[in-house]
Amino acid sequence: DLDYAERLARLLGADLKPQVVHAVDRVDLKIMPGEVVGLVGESGCGKSTLGRMLAGIMPQTEGEILWKGRDRRKLDRRDARTARLTAQMIFQDPMSSLNPRKRVIDIIGEAPVAHGIIPRRERDAYVAGLMERVGLDPAYKERFPHQFSGGQRQRIGIARALAVKPQFIVCDESVAALDVSIQAQILNLFMELRRELGLTYLFISHDIGVVKHISDRVAIMYLGRIVESASAEAFFSQPNHPYTVALLQEIPTIANRRRIFSPIKGEIPSPLHPPSGCHFHPRCPHAFDRCRREAPTLREIAPGHISACHLNDEKAHPPQKTTALS
Ligand code: SF4
Ligand code: MG
Repeated sequence: DLDYAERLARLLGADLKPQVVHAVDRVDLKIMPGEVVGLVGESGCGKSTLGRMLAGIMPQTEGEILWKGRDRRKLDRRDARTARLTAQMIFQDPMSSLNPRKRVIDIIGEAPVAHGIIPRRERDAYVAGLMERVGLDPAYKERFPHQFSGGQRQRIGIARALAVKPQFIVCDESVAALDVSIQAQILNLFMELRRELGLTYLFISHDIGVVKHISDRVAIMYLGRIVESASAEAFFSQPNHPYTVALLQEIPTIANRRRIFSPIKGEIPSPLHPPSGCHFHPRCPHAFDRCRREAPTLREIAPGHISACHLNDEKAHPPQKTTALS
């Protein structure tokens, strides 16, 4: 279940990491405690890679990921372990992330015992409590993953993540494979858990409809770069970046929501050889000369609202007649 970019990189024997990290490290993606940040982008834009780095299951090669204000690579062993446990990831397809040979009791109960979060003798009661909390009947704790429906399997994945008492959960397309009615149930469960446990989420999705439903803040990624981030309110009422505007014009309806998300005209360029300047320029209806030459940087255009587009400079400093523009 790899991203397009990762598959492509492997086929070509290329090392994608420096590129993705290069993209990620020009970004200040701050995620505040208790916040739900929606991370949106087309397939292969690097959002899963960024999510994995933030969850600590894939190393970054450059830049810093701060954990409580400290560089995660410089933590001592104990803090590194805590940082790893406090960030958990929930994937799209629980079938491939749950061991088919293990019973639910072991899938959920293994990590908290191994990490000394609970004593061995309390395991069964602890797992039963978690199963109830995520809407599963504890009577099924001896069953195997294939004996559950897709939605129930996702609940098992959630219980497994909760078992190590995380503070931060990265959901990577966690409801994308589910029917719409089940999607709503799982999203509601995420939001209940957030309220009860004070969880923080990075919610990665290609589906703006889903993200709109749950996010406090939205960040948009295009070919490995965050191009805009704002409160959900500002994002949907005053989108700034031309890519965002194009995405919002194409919010899929419920009926066609499952189709592959690539609404904007023009091919998605290869992430291995991104276009010069602004990566979006070949598809941007507003592209001008500077866009091909120079990458725009993220700038605050309103409090808490950042966007990377040269048009914002043009608005702030309209080109002067005396300035020679080539
Ligand atoms: Fe379009 Fe230029 Fe803005 Fe990029 S910098 S989004 S190409 S106008
Ligand atoms: Mg992905």
